[in-house]
Amino acid sequence: MAAKEDYYKLLELDKNASDAEIKKSYKRMAMKYHPDRNSDAPEAAEVKFKQIKEAYEVLSDPKKRSAYDQFGHAGVDPSMRGGGGFSGAEGFGDIFGDVFGDIFGGGRQRSSGVQRGSDLRYNLELTLEQAVAGTEVKIRVPVLVSCTECNGSGAKKGSSPITCSTCHGHGQVRMQQGFFSVQQACPTCHGTGKQIKDPCRKCYGQGRVQDTKTLSVKVPAGVDTGDRIRLAGEGEAGERGGPAGDLYVQIQVKDHAIFTRDNADLYCEVPISFPTACLGGEIEVPTLDGKVKLKIPAETQTGKLFRLRGKGVKPVRGGLQGDLLCRVQIETPVNLTKEQNTLVEQLRDSLFGGGKQHSPQEHSFMDGVKNFFDKLTG
Ligand SMILES: [Zn+2]
Ligand SMILES: [Zn+2]
Repeated sequence: MAAKEDYYKLLELDKNASDAEIKKSYKRMAMKYHPDRNSDAPEAAEVKFKQIKEAYEVLSDPKKRSAYDQFGHAGVDPSMRGGGGFSGAEGFGDIFGDVFGDIFGGGRQRSSGVQRGSDLRYNLELTLEQAVAGTEVKIRVPVLVSCTECNGSGAKKGSSPITCSTCHGHGQVRMQQGFFSVQQACPTCHGTGKQIKDPCRKCYGQGRVQDTKTLSVKVPAGVDTGDRIRLAGEGEAGERGGPAGDLYVQIQVKDHAIFTRDNADLYCEVPISFPTACLGGEIEVPTLDGKVKLKIPAETQTGKLFRLRGKGVKPVRGGLQGDLLCRVQIETPVNLTKEQNTLVEQLRDSLFGGGKQHSPQEHSFMDGVKNFFDKLTG
């Protein structure tokens, strides 16, 4: 094997070249020696092109560059270090991704050909009870499925696809873009490398047909709005035998008449009577697994939150079961009889007679209001 040429010389750089200069020079040299632009001597150009690429791979990597600066080719050549290094002898394909990607504004088409089917989304509405307890639901999904007549090949029963005449089975063709040529998926076979001469009657050569699938979805306990369940391979069938996409079941939990949910906790508003609020007592409150008793202490104010531990939701991703928080609302008595009216009047007179002590909040608020106006009027 001939002695290797100096990497800096190959790229026409001096030893102090900056990263930007290295990249710029590499682009220029790679274009110059690209085999597509050297049709008179493609083999020689290819050798040069690979050398340039190898040089660039070393000099663009600070670690490899410093090893090369210290030890020369021995510092970076895998054949002299028993493997573990890098290989500079890859094909041309990947170069478009790293350096020329920004010129052409996009990546390369993969040459594998077969197209994976699209992923699908299905919106699943659940009641709060279903979401909390978990459930199994049957859903019907309109979806492209693999054609049973041709087993997804798209070719008429008894025939098979033939090699594409445009790309000769490569799935890729070279297209001229300005002065440069790039590889693109073959427009005839869309990258599959195969053509169908006699298309399947059922799917018209597509290899898939529209159908409605019925699927059973296991919804784990504790899911919430925004969670999604992935059913691998239940999305759209791939074109002509390509792999199927996935189906994502997107969970949406419906509003509940009584409870609102905040992650693992549930909230509910509970009206209590005026006497219960004054004197205390026991009320019944709903939970997702039935009614429970809640003690209301005497002199409870409206808006007070009572926490029932462990009566919330067990989160689907694990963790502690949440709580139920009951917010009490004191209900002002309505539809009073004459007698009740008289009693409330008596209560009022008695409370007012006691001064500030029976309604400290009202009095401190009114004092604040008075101060506010006194300041305004100076
Ligand atoms: Zn078919
Ligand atoms: Zn083709």
